[in-house]
Amino acid sequence: MAKTIQAIRGMNDCLPSQTPVWQFVEARIRELVNSYHYNEIRTPIVENTDLFKRSVGEATDIVEKEMYVFEDRNGESLALRPEGTACAVRAGNQHGLLYNQQQRLWYMGPMFRHERPQKGRYRQFHQFGAEAFGFEGPDIDVEMILMGARLWKAFGISDQVELQINSLGNAQARADYKDILVKYLESHFDALDEDSKRRLTTNPLRVLDSKNQQTQAIVANAPKLIDHLDEESAQHFSQLCERLDATGIKYRVNPSLVRGLDYYNRTVFEWVTTMLGAQGTICAGGRYDGLVEQLGGKSTQGVGFAMGIERLVLLVEASQLEAMRNPAEVYITAMGDEASKEAIILAEKIRNAFSYLKVQLHCGGGNFKKQLKKADASGADVAIVIGEAEALSKVYGVKWLRKDSEQRQVNEEELIELLADIH
Ligand code: ATP
Ligand code: MG
Repeated sequence: MAKTIQAIRGMNDCLPSQTPVWQFVEARIRELVNSYHYNEIRTPIVENTDLFKRSVGEATDIVEKEMYVFEDRNGESLALRPEGTACAVRAGNQHGLLYNQQQRLWYMGPMFRHERPQKGRYRQFHQFGAEAFGFEGPDIDVEMILMGARLWKAFGISDQVELQINSLGNAQARADYKDILVKYLESHFDALDEDSKRRLTTNPLRVLDSKNQQTQAIVANAPKLIDHLDEESAQHFSQLCERLDATGIKYRVNPSLVRGLDYYNRTVFEWVTTMLGAQGTICAGGRYDGLVEQLGGKSTQGVGFAMGIERLVLLVEASQLEAMRNPAEVYITAMGDEASKEAIILAEKIRNAFSYLKVQLHCGGGNFKKQLKKADASGADVAIVIGEAEALSKVYGVKWLRKDSEQRQVNEEELIELLADIH
């Protein structure tokens, strides 16, 4: 027998048993972006490798170790996109969407990172992200955060996530702070983990979000960037906090929150849960006022976030199991040749009358006992029973499956009236 071919490690199929929860999550996301009036942008999955080197940064995990890079047949270096912000900025610059304009954009689709696969961490994963261009903030920063909060509410997971915020200041404040931080960390050099020792020269801010416990203890006493902000960023941050307070959004200022990508300045934030083990961040974002210019456009402010759909799906699955089963609502059974034809026609009539109802037609025959068992397993509220007599008389059997009641015989008009009660 020929050897079967498997999917690539860390790249998952989404099977019919899982698509209902994905569709549920995607549908709530589409409602969300609609209610904030964001416009969708779709960009290619493959980009020039340089795009990510110049935006995400050379000395970041994504570019250093995680990106899928390959040469195409012309010898050009291409990358599977590891994230969406750089792509949106690239497209915005290329098509003149950004300079001197205000844009509110969103995207959703697959991203690729060569990481060690585990729960909530995959090599192909999906992100929903929003990006706004041409806004000074902090009102738009708050809008980004409110969108997250509204989504958690729609998923019933508000009490499982915590909002953490921080400010990275402007480039000068960060550069000044880097010196202070490096001095402090050098005085504890021997106790740092190997990665952090290396980062001390390549990207010292990243030491702040090291997962190593001993390094974390050193970081806990380090001077804090939030205490060394430039005046404008400090004001931006306090205005942000005031607005969050006014909307009743709870948050924690986390001075170690620096994010793994180079392009952020001022506001950064993460929504974090304790329900997914080490993969706790479900949404992350912040301002990137320098990125558009850095990628060759004219200076334009930017702010955005990205959330991992797989991690959301895991949370939603746990909290909304019942709604996610995607039960049928009407199940139509039929025995005999005439009845089978009648059932097909009746199913279409019901769909015409109620486009929102989930109508499942029993296919493949079998006796009524077997068919009604299937009807029950489908989760349907009601079964319609059509034998040869019913096909002739056009008076159908109706049996409610989730409440105690006898089977009734009704004509088509009565049936349509009855089905209006579902929902
Ligand atoms: P982490 O710290 O978990 O590696 P990150 O900082 O690398 O996350 P971002 O680049 O900010 O993540 O991406 C935004 C969101 O995308 C994350 O909060 C997470 O929900 C999701 N995400 C990132 N990498 C993966 C992955 N490999 N698999 C699944 N989801 C991911
Ligand atoms: Mg990562």
